[in-house]
Amino acid sequence: MTGKTQVRHLKAQTGARFSRRPTVSIGIHVESSMRTCPRNSNRGCRRDAVPATLNDMNDNDSDPDIDSEEYDVAVVGGGAAGLSAALVLSRARRTVAVVDAGAPRNSPAAHMQGFLSRDGMPPGDLLAVGRDEVQSYGGHLIAGTVATVERGTGPGFRVILANGHQVTARRLIIATGLRDDLPDIPGIRERWARDLLHCPYCHGYEVRDQQLGVLGGTPDAVQHALLVRQWSSDVIFFPHTDTLTADDREQLIACGIGIVEGPVARLVVDDDHLRGIKLVNGTIVDRTAVFVRPRLIPNTDLLVGMGCAIDDTGWVKVDQSGRTSVPGVWVAGNAANPRAQVITAAGEGSSVAIAVNADLVGQDVQQAVAASRGGALS
Ligand SMILES: Cc1cc2nc3c(=O)[nH]c(=O)nc-3n(C[C@H](O)[C@H](O)[C@H](O)COP(=O)(O)OP(=O)(O)OC[C@H]3O[C@@H](n4cnc5c(N)ncnc54)[C@H](O)[C@@H]3O)c2cc1C
Repeated sequence: MTGKTQVRHLKAQTGARFSRRPTVSIGIHVESSMRTCPRNSNRGCRRDAVPATLNDMNDNDSDPDIDSEEYDVAVVGGGAAGLSAALVLSRARRTVAVVDAGAPRNSPAAHMQGFLSRDGMPPGDLLAVGRDEVQSYGGHLIAGTVATVERGTGPGFRVILANGHQVTARRLIIATGLRDDLPDIPGIRERWARDLLHCPYCHGYEVRDQQLGVLGGTPDAVQHALLVRQWSSDVIFFPHTDTLTADDREQLIACGIGIVEGPVARLVVDDDHLRGIKLVNGTIVDRTAVFVRPRLIPNTDLLVGMGCAIDDTGWVKVDQSGRTSVPGVWVAGNAANPRAQVITAAGEGSSVAIAVNADLVGQDVQQAVAASRGGALS
């Protein structure tokens, strides 16, 4: 990390603003676009209609707080999806700001599994590397929560943070993730991401062959139990508040999954380890790890506020490129895709970034042609 990058990183962590961006022009300036783009500096990488000197680009760390900054793209959410989008866009020589509230979904987990080449890495380490990579290409990180987004009178958006700071951008990528709504059973929150687990692809291997439980009371719980059976031959399903159908029962029994009926009172924890599940009738069933399928709630407030179309189940409607119904607004990762793992969210961020850059190129070309025709007439 360069000294300058370190300063930015620290400022981002403390919520300080750290650089004023010059107003972004969509004009193509051939001379500047041919400059080389040294990593660890975005100087000379931007294409400005008004030729910029090397010194006035991305070099205003000492500026006091300011109220408005303008970028090609604002990314809301700095998890795997948002950072991946920002990396691709900053390497495409776009000015990018990532505003992040700093609460990625998997932060309670000690390890991140299943990410090729990063399997077992602490989730925070992946994001720290990602932030450094984004900054090394001139991407800007802003710590904070976006409160609202307004569409401008022309193309573009005004992103307003809870602390009142504002960022304007030509395009917007929403990568705000989702919330896991857990059943209200004593002990669940305390054990979340430790021995109370949701995703067997994330944690199943680590508890393979153990005494596993699966809690009902949430949608598709029986399907979850049938899935978890892949990781252990000792699985017990607790329907909790659910009533099993004859088909459910037949499938569970056929797969060798035990069924213990009756409402669950709490998780039994001893010496900071899960020991079992206690039912309201007093029965305790020994288990060393329990799976539950939370209700997944996408963080769509900003999208709803902008008027993006939402489907009947509460998820934003997007096309194959991640584009919403509102021109200029894209979505990546868990905010639109409940199935996205970290690697998938990162992939979607990359793919959305490429679509956004193509959209910007289209606008740049249109404006360059209009400018060139205007110049020919005069
Ligand atoms: C306990 C647990 C363990 C997991 N383990 C694994 C695993 O081992 N492997 C795996 O592949 N997947 C795992 N996952 C899934 C993984 O968390 C997601 O796939 C991944 O986090 C999705 O990335 P994302 O960028 O879409 O969202 P997130 O990582 O959730 O990032 C969204 C970011 O947006 C920010 N944000 C939200 N709203 C705003 C706002 N208004 N303004 C500014 N910022 C905002 C949030 O603070 C957050 O930093 C796990 C999930 C959980 C719950």
